[in-house]
Amino acid sequence: MNTDNDQLLHKTAELVTRYLEQNQQSDQAISDYHPATELEKLLTLVLPEEGCSEAELLADIQRYLQYSVRTAHPHFMKQLYSGSSPAAIAGDWITTVTNTAAHTYQVSPVGTLMEQNLIRRLNQLIGFEQGDGIMVTGGSNANQIALLCALNQHWPSIKQQGFQAIKPVLYVSDQCHYSYEKAVFTLGIGTDNMRAIESDEQCRMRPDALVAQIQQDIEDGLQPFFIGATSGTTVAGAFDPLDTLADIAKRFDLWLHVDAAWGGPVLFSEQHKHLMQGVEWAHSVTWDAHKFMSAPLICSAVLLRDTGVLEAACSGGGSAYLFHPDENAAYNYGQKSLQCGRRVDSLKLWLDWRSKGTAGYRQQLESSMQLAQYCRQTITAHPKLHLLLEPDYLNLFFRYIPTLGTSTHDQRAIESLNLAILDAMKQAGSFYVDYATIKGTLGIRLVLANNQIRQTHLTALLDEIVRLGDALSSEILTN
Ligand SMILES: *Cc1c(COP(=O)(O)O)cnc(C)c1O
Repeated sequence: MNTDNDQLLHKTAELVTRYLEQNQQSDQAISDYHPATELEKLLTLVLPEEGCSEAELLADIQRYLQYSVRTAHPHFMKQLYSGSSPAAIAGDWITTVTNTAAHTYQVSPVGTLMEQNLIRRLNQLIGFEQGDGIMVTGGSNANQIALLCALNQHWPSIKQQGFQAIKPVLYVSDQCHYSYEKAVFTLGIGTDNMRAIESDEQCRMRPDALVAQIQQDIEDGLQPFFIGATSGTTVAGAFDPLDTLADIAKRFDLWLHVDAAWGGPVLFSEQHKHLMQGVEWAHSVTWDAHKFMSAPLICSAVLLRDTGVLEAACSGGGSAYLFHPDENAAYNYGQKSLQCGRRVDSLKLWLDWRSKGTAGYRQQLESSMQLAQYCRQTITAHPKLHLLLEPDYLNLFFRYIPTLGTSTHDQRAIESLNLAILDAMKQAGSFYVDYATIKGTLGIRLVLANNQIRQTHLTALLDEIVRLGDALSSEILTN
């Protein structure tokens, strides 16, 4: 360590502690917002020829904290991740301090055993009896690896020979995460060979449309191999009917993958796990612990029903210098990974789970589901708020609509008004909430991923939306 900076870590820890305390104060702004061209002037971005003093580094850190978005703030309701717990943060620090690669047991003995146990525990929740899996660089990456495993199982010759005459085709819903498009492109399948199956009015994949498309593709000489279902779609929070999709997968001999990056935690609750009924019939599952379980980014896993599949798809190379046949060879996770260097992401989730217990996650899920119902009721009961979609999970989709003369305002004007409400909150740093378009309708998309949110925060948010809507409507709707 550079001895010039011997106080840096102590002083940073103090700054961090203060920062974390401020996150919990509702009157604290979420962000000191500036557009990029202004922020550039407020920061010291230049990389100097000669090194800076400790005081300058601390000032850099302070500025970073000052102008960053406080995602742990209870008014941050914009994204599927949020802040994290002290235990998880401690885990992430230790991962950084001990800096090692989770590719071999020899350099990452503790992390490897923790990862193994986490994978086993997640597989138990799903109902995979044998089960395998690995921590990956995100839900997007997990979807890609699931596709790779499916390809390799279906056509083992691809690994050496490429696709040759094979014409793979796969099925997702029109609500699936955009990572599929990238995965399909990078794997050489081509986006034209991915079918976005129509979803129903609740945004769930329509099994009848799926079967019709599979039959059509078979008739056309294509080779269906994969159904990508989603449990908790990113925008609407919808759950595809896994039981039915599993039957279809079996009938046509297809791989069933379940992207549960967002919705997976319903499995913690007896009351809500019916949303994923049938998941045990899947071949693979995507799980993001950096979303609802609030581990610091990145903390994700791809889970496999059968052992050996992951290693068959991902292994290759490294035996000359890295993977030695010693007594711990079976614990070399690098053989199941596309990465060489791999961060120890298990420790933060491990510590968080130890600290909360499984009961902690269950309670967190159930109380968040209650908050979603509270929002639903408040929105439905309010004359100026209009629910656009019945929530199955923690995503609320709605609009502010002024009561008087609504019919005379066109949809565009209502949309502009709702965007203006969100923008005003962002400028003030009061609430961060996003918008989205579902089936052609633009609305406010509120997500309850943040376990610091309480009913009072939601009441304050809905009040603020109505207040801003009232204040902005005369200006926007008359223009
Ligand atoms: C967020 C999300 C992903 C992508 O996960 P990352 O960890 O952000 O890469 C994939 N699928 C669904 C359904 C998601 O909500």
